[in-house]
Amino acid sequence: MTVTIALFTRDLRVRDNPVLTAAHREGAAVVPLFVLDDAILSGRFAAPNRAGFLTAALAELDAELRAIGGRLVLRRGDVVAEVDRVAGQVHARSVHIAADVSGYSQRRERALRERLARRNCLLHTHTASITSTDPEALMPATGRDHFAVFTPYFRRWSMTHRRKPLGKPRELRLPRVESLPLPDADDLCAGPASPRLAVGGESAGRKLMREWLSGPIEDYARLSDDLGADATSRLSPYLHFGCVSPVELVHGVNLSTEGGLAFARQLAWRDFHHQLLAARPAAAWSDYRDRSIRWSDDPQAVDAWRDGRTGYPIVDAGMRQLRAEGWMPGRARLISASFLTKSLRVDWRVGAEHFLRWLVDADLANNQLNWQWVAGTGTDTRPNRVLNPLRQAERYDAEGAYARRWIPELAHLPGARVHRPWREQVDPADYPAPIIDVVGM
Ligand SMILES: Cc1cc2nc3c(=O)[nH]c(=O)nc-3n(C[C@H](O)[C@H](O)[C@H](O)COP(=O)(O)OP(=O)(O)OC[C@H]3O[C@@H](n4cnc5c(N)ncnc54)[C@H](O)[C@@H]3O)c2cc1C
Repeated sequence: MTVTIALFTRDLRVRDNPVLTAAHREGAAVVPLFVLDDAILSGRFAAPNRAGFLTAALAELDAELRAIGGRLVLRRGDVVAEVDRVAGQVHARSVHIAADVSGYSQRRERALRERLARRNCLLHTHTASITSTDPEALMPATGRDHFAVFTPYFRRWSMTHRRKPLGKPRELRLPRVESLPLPDADDLCAGPASPRLAVGGESAGRKLMREWLSGPIEDYARLSDDLGADATSRLSPYLHFGCVSPVELVHGVNLSTEGGLAFARQLAWRDFHHQLLAARPAAAWSDYRDRSIRWSDDPQAVDAWRDGRTGYPIVDAGMRQLRAEGWMPGRARLISASFLTKSLRVDWRVGAEHFLRWLVDADLANNQLNWQWVAGTGTDTRPNRVLNPLRQAERYDAEGAYARRWIPELAHLPGARVHRPWREQVDPADYPAPIIDVVGM
């Protein structure tokens, strides 16, 4: 009997999953395997919010697999050693895994391939699984190994051929193999999680996707930056953990509508950053473009920024939402990242670390490269742009609804007055005075 292993990583779904489909097609029996990776769980990337989302997504994946005759096999430890051990136990002919982009995942793939080869077991990688396109399929005509500017990338991305979404396997057969029980979040990562965290899993992700595509997407071009409206898809955690397939999502978007096109453009940013990180894994922590910026060291200002007490309500609202939900809308991320790097002149890595601690959707490609974009060390063609928090508040929270939602101390200030509390009778013991001056106060 041919046995294959479908090794799940951040593709936690049964529908449109090239890894599961290929393993099922090849094997008479399949081991759907997930390894709780000690290298990740004990490193800087471990975070209670993502642990919470992950455990829910794993539980649901297990239930989905059981519904088709399988179940999720869980192991914990070193990924290469654990996959090799399972491959030995079930005499697997091959292992299927989604291609990923970070330096760590590229090393993991190489090590797995080598180790499995010793027992004549093949490793097959599948592209267009974690992203909607194969990063290597879309290369610039210049011969470079990645696009350094988004607009030409998007032109190519819009025209590229995408595979059709796959269904889920009808029935799975499992060989005899042991598994750990499903973990609780606390087993994976200690520390407080956000009280209003999204619920992980394929069904929650698919429900959100269906609802989004059936109406709200039409207003995306008009409302995506309107902070009070809360009118973005909130699909990012489901995309990050692969509970929703990016290929299926792109197929569901009507590119001939204004909203559909604007939304697809954001999905293309996601692929763009994945391509860049695949080609330049060091950009996760080193400047993509060296601009010899002299960052300032200001621990007090950084604490105020992290705690949402900078004195600028539009910045503080975003930072408080981050802790409460483990998520922020893109516009709020831009404003708070620009405030830290351009107004306070603090190194983008400090901000990126804080986002990694709290964001449920955090991944190296999108988090680090967006931080670099804002800081001016990344792919922004206008690296010196500064987002003035007061101008941003006027444009994107004109009525002050977002600021009042997240800063209860200021909830009594009507309309746009909430954005300049220093002009009101607000006790600095309740809400602080601005920690720095910006133009337009
Ligand atoms: C400083 C900073 C840090 C960020 N960190 C992350 C991160 O760790 N993980 C992450 O997924 N996104 C990150 N983003 C990008 C973006 O802010 C989020 O993807 C988006 O806010 C998620 O909300 P949504 O799903 O409602 O997005 P929508 O506006 O509905 O967009 C749909 C999808 O497009 C993708 N997308 C949107 N904007 C971007 C972008 N600028 N770059 C890449 N992909 C994008 C996301 O997958 C998102 O789910 C960051 C942006 C900034 C400025």
